[in-house]
Amino acid sequence: MTKGTLYIISAPSGTGKGTIVAELLKADPNIHFSVSATTRLPREGEQNGVNYYFIDRNEFSELIENGGMLEYAEFCGNLYGTPKKPVYDKLNEGHDVILEIETVGAYKVMEACPDAVSIFILPPSLKALRHRLEKRGTETPEVIERRVAEAEGEIKKAFRYDYAVINDDLDKAVEDVRALMKFAKKMKNTKNEMIEGVLKQC
Ligand code: 5GP
Repeated sequence: MTKGTLYIISAPSGTGKGTIVAELLKADPNIHFSVSATTRLPREGEQNGVNYYFIDRNEFSELIENGGMLEYAEFCGNLYGTPKKPVYDKLNEGHDVILEIETVGAYKVMEACPDAVSIFILPPSLKALRHRLEKRGTETPEVIERRVAEAEGEIKKAFRYDYAVINDDLDKAVEDVRALMKFAKKMKNTKNEMIEGVLKQC
């Protein structure tokens, strides 16, 4: 069976990546969303096991020590990490998997899984990003300041990603990401088939 494709999707918070990922998942039941673990407190409406596994620092450290994390990183004072087993299980079953993670963790996954396809979603500008965070209203002004400051650093790390998409118009951004994912998966599978085909003739 062909293994699934691993996609890394990153973006500064407030860029709309959550909405984009939700649209991608709605349209394709073959895609599995990797639910991360975090020490951050749930926001209103977030559910344990759906948006994140909300755990404390001790539980998080245990997961790391037991080798249960594919990657993890500290972001704005909270720990975030990808539980390894569900990701590998889904890929081995032939499902595609999306990791919605920040750049430090993304770099680690790029090293550990060189076949992963990485996509960075950009805001139209830092000014637009601050405006979106204020409109979202889920963070205090201090946290918004911190997240905007983090955003610039994150955007500088986007050069290392395979692809970048600007989220100016949501529908267009969803279409662009979907098209990139389809293209990258096809190219990866075609490449492997071509190599295997030639090797068979040896
Ligand atoms: P938020 O607190 O806004 O949900 O997420 C903050 C940042 O952490 C976002 O950039 C999000 O993509 C990232 N993040 C979420 N889950 C993970 C994870 O498992 N690993 C890493 N490295 N980053 C994550």
